[in-house]
Amino acid sequence: MAQHTEVLIVGGGIWGLSTAYHLAKLGQNGVLVLERNEAIAAETTPQAAGLVGQIRSSTPMVQAVRYALELFSQFPKETGHDIGLHQTGSLMVALTPERMEAYTRQIEKANLNGVEANFVSHAEMARLVPAMDITKVEGGYFVPKDGYVDPQQCAFAYAAAARDLGVQIQLNTPVTGLRQHNGEILGVETEKGFIASNHVVITAGPWGAMLSEKVGATTAVQPIRHQRVHTAPTPGIPDHHPVVRVTDVSCYLRPEKEGYLYGFFEPEPVSIDLEAMPVDFRTADIEPPVEVMTEARRRLTPIFPILKDLEIAEYRRGMTTFAPDGAYLIGPVPGIDCLYLATGCAALGIAGSAAVGRWLAKWMIKGDPDEDLTMFSHQRFGPQATNQEWLRRESEQFYANYYRIRTE
Ligand SMILES: Cc1cc2nc3c(=O)[nH]c(=O)nc-3n(C[C@H](O)[C@H](O)[C@H](O)COP(=O)(O)OP(=O)(O)OC[C@H]3O[C@@H](n4cnc5c(N)ncnc54)[C@H](O)[C@@H]3O)c2cc1C
Repeated sequence: MAQHTEVLIVGGGIWGLSTAYHLAKLGQNGVLVLERNEAIAAETTPQAAGLVGQIRSSTPMVQAVRYALELFSQFPKETGHDIGLHQTGSLMVALTPERMEAYTRQIEKANLNGVEANFVSHAEMARLVPAMDITKVEGGYFVPKDGYVDPQQCAFAYAAAARDLGVQIQLNTPVTGLRQHNGEILGVETEKGFIASNHVVITAGPWGAMLSEKVGATTAVQPIRHQRVHTAPTPGIPDHHPVVRVTDVSCYLRPEKEGYLYGFFEPEPVSIDLEAMPVDFRTADIEPPVEVMTEARRRLTPIFPILKDLEIAEYRRGMTTFAPDGAYLIGPVPGIDCLYLATGCAALGIAGSAAVGRWLAKWMIKGDPDEDLTMFSHQRFGPQATNQEWLRRESEQFYANYYRIRTE
């Protein structure tokens, strides 16, 4: 096992693997990813729906998703590894006049940010999504450059490209501690011994905050269960079928394995207290969310009657991490030089993975991510970050209102 590295990445999910790829692409040598499981990308990442949508409330996130779409489409040519991007667009569906008003504001903002988005007719919606009952729909707009990926394929592609550039990925190696001296990171403790490193990056998903606590850092993040299903195959889903977001019922839907995949932001979120769980608690230990996905189907069926009789082929669920304001937590860990933490994915970590990896890589190599990332800073909540009750309440509220109508 390596005794010393330049950059050590803790966690081989999509964020860790993108960071490894971007570091190596920028010429960084001595990059090592430590993953505790026997496989990479086996926790939150493969549970995702893989939606890559540019309609975001902040400009840095719009730019982040635009970068992902650019990178994903060029990745096969650049690296020889296919991320599997389906660039079939997003259809944003409104069920009420209020939502249509909100969509007018969203389109204006998107266009100002350089994102193509336009209202579409009912006839066009019927062509794009033949299974939708358009008589139930007030209207909608289309974002042609949006898309979706298979999140695990995407993570594997980052890993393969990173390996080609010299990155080492070591499996079955849980990181058990961080070693620092006088406010400088020295390396990590593992079950197999100490590994010294000039830089350490924690990309351990929902487990990241617990790791950074080991050096006294407080991270304002709450793991919240999130879920989706896909149905048995059914005929008649066109290749051009976009992602459909029915924001009035907090659901989304896209094609998957010749059936439909749909997901739901439930109004009564279920937080998971990882500190209270056994150390070997994994994503697979979360119960299949049958009841909550029955509610999602109930909400979607008036618009997609076909879902009523389609069997569920598979339930997927995981922990998404939310900060109280729903923005990522990314960057240097305050008080410890050369230690970085990325968490708070806000159910948007696949779409943001490319930018997250690039930001972290630039931070370590150049000392600056090249963009103003103050909105993602670990310090932004001040002393309130230690108030667990507040943290949980605000983060759950953000999750439950994910698709709320925004007036700002
Ligand atoms: C149902 C669902 C739907 C979603 N849909 C979307 C979507 O449509 N679009 C989107 O952009 N995002 C979506 N997401 C969010 C997305 O899945 C996450 O943002 C993303 O996977 C986070 O990746 P990660 O690398 O941070 O975490 P993870 O994938 O959890 O990876 C963390 C890794 O760290 C490892 N690890 C943890 N502790 C240690 C340790 N001590 N030592 C070594 N290794 C360790 C873990 O084993 C794991 O492999 C969805 C999530 C869910 C659950």
